Amino acid sequence: MESSLEFSSSLGSASSLLSRCRTFKVLVIGDSGVGKTCLTHRLCAGEFPRRVEATIGVDFRERVLDVDGEKIKLQLWDTAGQERFRKSMVQHYYRNVHAVLFVYDVTCPASFGSLTSWVEECRQNSIRQEIPRFLVGNKSDLRDPRSAGGQVCQERAMSFARAHSMMFFETSAKRPPNRRAAYQQDKVEDIVVAVGAKL
Ligand code: GDP
Repeated sequence: MESSLEFSSSLGSASSLLSRCRTFKVLVIGDSGVGKTCLTHRLCAGEFPRRVEATIGVDFRERVLDVDGEKIKLQLWDTAGQERFRKSMVQHYYRNVHAVLFVYDVTCPASFGSLTSWVEECRQNSIRQEIPRFLVGNKSDLRDPRSAGGQVCQERAMSFARAHSMMFFETSAKRPPNRRAAYQQDKVEDIVVAVGAKL
C-alpha cells in the first residue's frame, strides 16, 4: 500500500477539506516516562518537543496522511501513565479505538515488564484482537551497544510482539529525522506509515 505523509500543521487553507476526511483514533499507551508525549509530538509535528509538560489524563494530536490517494487523519491519543489519572479516564479513551501503540523505554526493563498489564487493560476494555497493534521500544538513542545490562534486548521485544500479533519498531523520538538510520526500525516515520497501511 502506497502512503505519503504530510504534517497537519503545514496544511493551511486545505484545513476545511481535511476536517471532513476519515479520522482514525490511535491510542498511545505505556508507563509514565517512556516518551509517549514526545513520540506523539514527533509523529505529528515532525520534531522532538523543546519542552514537555506532563500529560494530565489524556491529550491528542493529529496527523494527516495519504493512503492510496485518500487523505486520512490519524488522531493520536496520548494517555497519562499514572494510575490516578487513568482510573477516571479509562473508559473514555478506550472507546472507538482503531489502533494501539504500546510504548516502552528500551533502557527501562520495568517499562517492558509492564506491557503485559497494558495488554490486559486493552483486553478488559474490549480492544479486539483484530485491532492493529504496534510495539514501540523508544529511546534507542540511549542504547549502549557495549553493555546489554539494564536494557531491553530486541529479540525479547520481537518475541513479545509476535506472541501478541504486534508489529515491532525500535526507535527514538529524540533522534533528528534526517540522521542516517542504520536500521529500518530507527525511522520513526515508518510507524505512522505502518499504522496508515493497517487501517
Ligand atoms: P511520557 O510520560 O510517556 O509521556 O514521557 P515523556 O514524553 O514526557 O518523556 C519522558 C522523558 O523522556 C522526557 O524527559 C523526554 O525528554 C525523554 N524522552 C522521550 N523520548 C525520548 C527519546 O527518544 N530519547 C531520549 N533520550 N529521551 C526521550
